[in-house]
Amino acid sequence: KLSIRSVSKSYGALTVLDDVSVEVEEGSFVVLLGPSGCGKSTLLHAVAGLNPIDSGTIVIGDRNVTNLPARERDVAMVFQSYALYPTMTVAQNIAFPLKMRGLDRKMSDEKVAGVARLLQIEPLMSRLPRELSGGQRQRVAIGRALVRDPRLFLFDEPLSNLDAALRTELRAEIKRLHQSIRRTMVYVTHDQTEALTLADKIVVLKAGRIEQTGTPLSLYDDPDNAFVAGFIGTPR
Ligand code: ATP
Ligand code: MG
Repeated sequence: KLSIRSVSKSYGALTVLDDVSVEVEEGSFVVLLGPSGCGKSTLLHAVAGLNPIDSGTIVIGDRNVTNLPARERDVAMVFQSYALYPTMTVAQNIAFPLKMRGLDRKMSDEKVAGVARLLQIEPLMSRLPRELSGGQRQRVAIGRALVRDPRLFLFDEPLSNLDAALRTELRAEIKRLHQSIRRTMVYVTHDQTEALTLADKIVVLKAGRIEQTGTPLSLYDDPDNAFVAGFIGTPR
């Protein structure tokens, strides 16, 4: 479970997050949806501990992590750009977080093999990132998050650099992944199809504030206002 409680953040005079509260049930999939610049990445980075907040509280499980550094939060993040290490093979990239933790070689190899199987990237393990397609790279990035077995997964527009066909394919794969591991996931996008197909709950953000929160169906059928309606589908 993740609780984001009254989180605010400003850059100078610009308020980027204004008293944002979100409850994410354990094992659920929550999508943060909103236009460019509304504060989605800022909120995700706040949860990951990559960026300090001005006020508010972040609780992961039963731990108040607000003042903990990123590495102590038991969170893994997948970014829009793949951020793979260019000189390491796929296997080394995925194993890297385990190596940092000092896991022994045999355990590490087993975990990496398990992840490769789950993501169906076994034939790619000895390649370098530059020898992969965009979709394959993003699978590896997901693998690197997965191998850490975190309590919470954060995705920041992981599919936005991919073409439409690959987006559809990887979207389905992320959904399958969530259904098979049932780990808590928070997923940022401005793509309504991704939001509607992936989310248990959607949080619509506008200019640093929550506009509406609900299930995909409830937001689709009963948007509070034209902004939400425009974002979720049925323009009226
Ligand atoms: P996108 O969909 O384009 O990724 P976003 O919803 O993720 O947008 P954020 O990256 O969270 O938006 O940015 C929210 C606002 O904060 C934007 O107006 C942005 O310009 C501003 N901002 C982000 N980082 C900084 C920073 N380091 N200094 C000043 N302003 C910043
Ligand atoms: Mg962003």
